[in-house]
Amino acid sequence: MLRSLIRAFASSGVFLLFPLLAHAQAVPFSVGTASAAPGQKSTGYLAVPAGVDAATNIPVVVVNGERHGPVLALVSGAHGTEYTSIIAIEKLINLLDPSQIAGTVILVPLVNIPSFEQKVPHVNPIDNKSMNRFYPGKADGTQTERASLVITTQVIDRCDYLIDYHGGDLDESLRPYAYWAPTGKQAQDQESKEMVLAFGLDHIIIWRDRPTDLAATRYLDNTSTARGKPSMVVEAGYAGTVEPDDVALLVNGTFSTMRALKMLPGEPRPVENPVWLDRVVDVLSDGPGIWYPLVRRGTYVQEGMKIGFVTDYFGKLILEARAPVSGVILHINAVPSLKKGDNIADIGVVATHAP
Ligand SMILES: [Zn+2]
Repeated sequence: MLRSLIRAFASSGVFLLFPLLAHAQAVPFSVGTASAAPGQKSTGYLAVPAGVDAATNIPVVVVNGERHGPVLALVSGAHGTEYTSIIAIEKLINLLDPSQIAGTVILVPLVNIPSFEQKVPHVNPIDNKSMNRFYPGKADGTQTERASLVITTQVIDRCDYLIDYHGGDLDESLRPYAYWAPTGKQAQDQESKEMVLAFGLDHIIIWRDRPTDLAATRYLDNTSTARGKPSMVVEAGYAGTVEPDDVALLVNGTFSTMRALKMLPGEPRPVENPVWLDRVVDVLSDGPGIWYPLVRRGTYVQEGMKIGFVTDYFGKLILEARAPVSGVILHINAVPSLKKGDNIADIGVVATHAP
């Protein structure tokens, strides 16, 4: 009986199918030197080869779920002193349980290791470039550009969705917010909007009219978005602090977004009444001096309101900084140091209509 069944399966081709399926399920998911079979978690590195300057290795983690599903990339530490976002991804490395996950999560917790180790804000001190301005990257560029190319080809090209994590840098007193960048492609915009609402941050910047030319995207999230992958940016933390409430916003927001993507069981907890911001206006310093803020992160200001002042090194008033628009202080300079061209504050202008 059994033998005739086997013969029947074999002749129909069904018999051959079972070992193939079993094989397909056991195929590991590999990114750089991290390789995880279904139900496993693996750590490794993305190798950035030497070029006009030194080689480097960027840590990467693959959490491969037991069940089939999409691939989600979580990237932080392009600015290596935006600590809250880095610590949030470190926590997620431990908290994500492959036995609970449908699909695969790629985590890149610290893109800019030299910035983190040397405590240099904003840039990679190896080449003095921001590690979120040179995507999609290039093979013959400096370290930042070569690292960007590695992330484009080994992370963005492998994922279906992407979240880029930032936070107030050492000199930025920041209130939490997210960026949502509509593309005009309805299905993709609907998905990315669901992601940003599910993440739960209550202030969301609408970032319109970004480059669609694949060679000109510059930012990580835009590089991913332009390649058809719904993506967003989230920011929490400020001025070098790692406050548990800020870390929790990023960790819990990630879980909620994964629920919205059906990668985790349970229901997402979307923000019910987000404040949509349709413009961000920079207030820049027109000279060096000592900065004295008069408002806090998150303060709502009216156009013309004094938000701080600058003195020279003898205490003489040289500048009154006033809000050029009415809106919310997304971040304000957190330290007394100011040089010409520094960002004193970013003010988000509340949208008249929700998108
Ligand atoms: Zn940043």
